[in-house]
Amino acid sequence: MTKWRAVYSERSTYGSGGSLWKPTAYTRQGAGGLPHPEILGKVTEEADGSEIVPPSVCPSCGHDLEKKGPHLFCTNKVDCRPQLVGRIAHFASRDAMDIETFSEKTAEQLYDSLGVRDPSDLYYLTFDDLIKLERFGTKKAENLIAAFEKSKQPDLASFLYALGISNTGKTTTKELAEHYRSLEKLMQAEPEELITLPDIGSIVAESIVGFFRDQAMQRSIERLLAAGIQPVSEEAPAVVDESSLFFGKTVVLTGTLTTMGRDEAAKKLEKLGAKVTGSVSRKTDIVIAGENAGSKLTKAQELGIRIIDNEEELRQLLGDV
Ligand SMILES: [Zn+2]
Repeated sequence: MTKWRAVYSERSTYGSGGSLWKPTAYTRQGAGGLPHPEILGKVTEEADGSEIVPPSVCPSCGHDLEKKGPHLFCTNKVDCRPQLVGRIAHFASRDAMDIETFSEKTAEQLYDSLGVRDPSDLYYLTFDDLIKLERFGTKKAENLIAAFEKSKQPDLASFLYALGISNTGKTTTKELAEHYRSLEKLMQAEPEELITLPDIGSIVAESIVGFFRDQAMQRSIERLLAAGIQPVSEEAPAVVDESSLFFGKTVVLTGTLTTMGRDEAAKKLEKLGAKVTGSVSRKTDIVIAGENAGSKLTKAQELGIRIIDNEEELRQLLGDV
């Protein structure tokens, strides 16, 4: 498989609209069907310069090409080998699903011998499939199956990066993961909403929306999820409201709260920046006293500590956390 690809640039136009093409740089194939060609070198001027005609069909699969800017893309998503092998290898790579021991060679071998065409196919391979392959012993087959298993809970950003959405690199997928925190929500996002994010312009927004509306991609994602892939998103960081009465205070809960449990109240207090402790001392700032509060309430009164014994007032002070 050739990794090298010329970028054909339109240099000048002659006569009746015919274009003259020259390769201006050589690039390496990017992930998921060439989203990020990497420029590896410039073609020297004239010296080695016979002009070349850009291919009219994909040199690899013979499919039609689509011109986007100066680049030519093969639009065959079904069986263009270098594209699919590249997509699968990218999916498995370290910054993506991080499937250990998986290489581009593995992707090629699975493509040729086991009909793997889509990243989701990987998770349906069995030990019996792999053991049949050349250069696969028991240990190698077991290790690869284990590596597939181990990759099943990627963080959402890595999962999105693994999908190989055109025009989106690691920075963008990280931003998407932090903003949406859910694959389902991102899949429903509209371009108008996406472009409000700091690093996303209209081209990237269209790429993302187009990707998730593509039925082949939807099927691929469904199969990944059905195979047990669970992208993990971190919870949104708690916004600590420093203006809360409880911020930075040591609080003791005592007695029975009738409309919320003590655990629930404690969690809310902690979210507001309070430290919840079990015994009343001079260091206590506030005592929340429910029904039948006993010695702790008495002690708080003796020490002149602020007491909140009205549950309605407590609810208002806790707000919506
Ligand atoms: Zn092709």
